This record gives sequence, structure tokens and C-alpha cells, in this order.
Amino acid sequence: MMQGFILRLPKFRRLPVVPVRIGNETRRLPEDSAIARQGEVDKGSFLTRTEITLQAAGDWLQRRQELIRRVQWGFVLMYYFLLIAPALLPQPMNRAEIFSTLAGFAEIVFWGIWWPGVILCMLLFGQFWCGVFCPDGTLTEWVSRHGRGGKIPAWVRWRGWPLLAFSVVVVYEHLLNAHQAPRAMLVSLGGASLLALGCGYFFGRGKRVWCRYLCPVSSMFSLLARCAIFHFKVDRPTWDNAPKPLPRGIDCPPLLDVRRLRSNEKCSMCGRCSGHRNAVKLAARWPGREVVNMAPNEIRLFDAFAVCFVLIGLCYGALHGRSPGVVALLQSGMPGLAIKNAFLAAALGMTLIAAWLGSFSALLLLVAAQGRFRHALHLAYALIPLAGLGLFSGALEHSFALLAQAGFSVAEARSLVTGVCVASGGIWSFCIARQIIRNWSGRHYFAQGIFSILLAILGSAYFFVSAEILAL
Ligand code: SF4
Repeated sequence: MMQGFILRLPKFRRLPVVPVRIGNETRRLPEDSAIARQGEVDKGSFLTRTEITLQAAGDWLQRRQELIRRVQWGFVLMYYFLLIAPALLPQPMNRAEIFSTLAGFAEIVFWGIWWPGVILCMLLFGQFWCGVFCPDGTLTEWVSRHGRGGKIPAWVRWRGWPLLAFSVVVVYEHLLNAHQAPRAMLVSLGGASLLALGCGYFFGRGKRVWCRYLCPVSSMFSLLARCAIFHFKVDRPTWDNAPKPLPRGIDCPPLLDVRRLRSNEKCSMCGRCSGHRNAVKLAARWPGREVVNMAPNEIRLFDAFAVCFVLIGLCYGALHGRSPGVVALLQSGMPGLAIKNAFLAAALGMTLIAAWLGSFSALLLLVAAQGRFRHALHLAYALIPLAGLGLFSGALEHSFALLAQAGFSVAEARSLVTGVCVASGGIWSFCIARQIIRNWSGRHYFAQGIFSILLAILGSAYFFVSAEILAL
């Protein structure tokens, strides 16, 4: 069955088109697209050209699910080949061989291109990677169609699993330097794929239970996507008043209630709901509006903890916990705690950096909120852009290290890219914080000042990052 699936080429079916007046122009659009069903569109007052293009892009995704499925299977093959084959071949003896082995090629693809690219796309455009390309998502959904289709148990829905799993994977990968060890990488990424398969087999019927409740990276991607520019926007009155006969329900892979969709948090941007009842469309928004407009019951201590202690603290600590300076400090400087084992010292270094940065961020947020706990929690979401771009520039350290090994001079480019990331992340975070603070009573300038100090300290930490760990 699989073989037939691969060999068949995608058929590009020409869709019937109808003329639609958009302002002064007439365009020919597929007759089942949401724009065509709307009939004449007044470009000047209702839809701008960008909005029309985005809506058409969302409709395209919805109509081309068969093509997307084939692309997904292509990604599945490529992903597992690059994950499994290097682990089965003889391991490279030194870093000089990296550009002449399959293991090196896999390292470049996974950690030099894929990981930084995915982080940036999450922050800017939302979780398109998950809905359109992710190999684990494709597998878990496919297995789920043929599996036992069981009810989702309550323990699976526990919110802490993805964050816990992400923390374990980050520490594991940085302690074992799994980026450079194909077998260690197979254990972590391959292990996640096996769990995704098992989850798809046991729970849900044709849905992505794994992606919704358990995927380790979903804990960070959900946070980053809240600030993204694109989202699927639902017009509730149009949805509720849609004329009969109503279309069939939406096959939403992460089991969302699309009618009440307000957040990008769990939407994997697969596009299957686009145009439904003429009420759902891909749209652009001010990047941060979702965070600013959060209702009090949507603000969670859990998310604020994830931002301060994991997205900022642990991700930073993982990169620096093994740096020689930190390890030497721990081995020599703690009275009564002589750590002779470098592995333990590195683990302790990561933990201490994560705890220190997280606590420091939380404390300054509380000061900025003038002691009001819920305000401080809300303000924590404003740190997402700086933390996301800090994570991105941290991931780029690996890309720059690979370029340096290939003989390129990267020092200036690295400083420039990191500087641009930190500066734009800081400005973006500050704009969001300013709008949040504007809705508070009390001293606005004080809150903005303290938040700016926090941004400056975190930005400096990201900027003066040391790449020496990557050369270990
Ligand atoms: S709401 Fe569901 S169906 Fe619609 S794009 Fe998001 S994940 Fe896909």
C-alpha cells in the first residue's frame, strides 16, 4: 500500500473557476473558494488586497489536502532516512570528516537549517510546520486512522507533559552533545516518533492526539505561535448564521473547537477549516495582539513559568551550562561542593543558570507589576518575542559553528545576526508590554522602566553568548 502511495505522482486537477468582481477588477477564482462564494467583494472597504491573498492561500491549503499529504510523506521518508541511516553507518571519528559523511549531512540539515528555521517560522507565521510538514504528526494521524481509536485518558491531557518532556530532551541533547552523535539523536528523536506512533495507535480516531497533548516541542511552539502574524480567524456571527444545508463538520487534527477559536496556541495551521461556512479564513494580525487581548481566565501561571524558567532559563542554560567558564566556576568556587565529574558539573550548571535566570525574570516582572500577581503573569507573555528570537539566535550558533568548520569567517556575521535578533526581539517585546501596561491602573512609566531593564539584561545575556561550547 505504501509503495503505491509513493510511486503515484500528484495529479494537478484544474479546478472550475468563476469570475469574481474585486473592487474594479474581475478575477477568475476557484468556484469553491470562500472568496468566490462571497460573490462581489468591495476591496476598498472590506478586504484589502493582502487579506484577499491570504484568504485565497488558506482556501488553497484547504483544497489541496491530497497534495499536502503526499508532500508530508516525502518529508517522512527524508526525515527517517536522515535519522536512521547515519546511526547505522560507522560513526565519524573526528569533526574533520563532517562534510564528507552522511552523519555530517544530517547534522547540517537537522541542526544547521531545520531547527533554527522552524523556530523562526513558529514565531513569525504560526505552526504551519506542524500542520503541513511534520513527519511525526503525519505518522501519528495516519496510524490513528487504522488504530484502536480509544478514548483519550485523563492523564494524557495533563498540561505538564510537553514541558517536562521538552526539558528532559533539551538537557539530554546538550549533555550528550546529541547534535553531533547520530545514535544519541536517534534515541531522542526516534524515541519521540515511537511514542507518537503508539499514541496514534491507542487514542483518537484519525486525530493528532500526540500533537495536541504530548509532543515535547509543542510546549514551546504553542508559546511562540501566540505572537505570530498569521492566524485562522473565525467570524462567529457568520458561522452561526450560515445558510442551510450546512457543510460537513471540520476534520480538525488537534481536536479544536474551531467555532470558538480565539488563539493560535494549539492551531497547527493545516488549513482544513479555511472557508468553512464562509466564516474561517487565514488572516494577518498585529503580532502580539493575541497576547495583549488575553482574557483574565486565559492567563496561566503555567505559561508564565514556561516562559521564564524554560523558554528563557533552561534554553539559555542548556547552551551555556557546559561552557568552560561555568564548569570551572562550579568545580572550584563552591565551598564544600567539589564536583570532579564534568558531566555532573554541566548538569548543575544548566540547572543553576535556568533557576537563576527564571527567578530573576519572575522577580522583575513582579516588581514591574507593582506586586500584582496576575498582572505579572500577563506581562510574562510579553517576553515571548525576545525569548523566541534568543532561542533562534542560540540555535543559529550551531549553524555558525558548522560554517566556521567549513572554513568561512563567521564572527562578524554572527554578531550582526545576533544583534538584529536581540534588538528586534526586545523592541517587539517592549511594544507588547507597553500595550498590556496601558490597560493597568498605577504607575505606567515605572512598569515600563522595570520591564525595559529586564529586556536589557536578557538581551545582553543573549548577545554576549559564547560559541565555545559548540567546539567541545
Ligand atoms: S483550527 Fe484546526 S482545522 Fe483549522 S487550521 Fe487550525 S488545526 Fe487546522
